[in-house]
Amino acid sequence: MARILILLAVVLGVFWWLRVRAEARLAQQRAQQRAREASQRAAAEAAAPAAAEPMVQCAHCGVHLPQGEAIAWRGLHYCRRSHLPDEASTGTTGGPGA
Ligand SMILES: [Zn+2]
Repeated sequence: MARILILLAVVLGVFWWLRVRAEARLAQQRAQQRAREASQRAAAEAAAPAAAEPMVQCAHCGVHLPQGEAIAWRGLHYCRRSHLPDEASTGTTGGPGA
C-alpha cells in the first residue's frame, strides 16, 4: 500500500514539474514575442515620420520646411513669425475692390 502512495506522489511530482516548466517556457516565449513586436513598432515609427510629414513653402521667402515646423496662417505657411504679413499692409482697410 505504501508503495502505491509513493508511486502516486512521484507521478504527481513529475506532472507538477512538467507543468511548471511548460508555463515558464510559455511566459518566456510571450515575453520574447512582445519584445520583438515592440522593436518592430519602434523601427516603423522611427522610419515613418520623416517620409510622412509633408513639406510646405514659406509664402514670404520661399524656403521649404516640414509642415509641423511651419506657422500656418490664412491658408499659407511661413517659416518664422517675422515673415507673417503685417495686418496693416495686407489690407483690412482696402476691401475687395481696391
Ligand atoms: Zn520665410
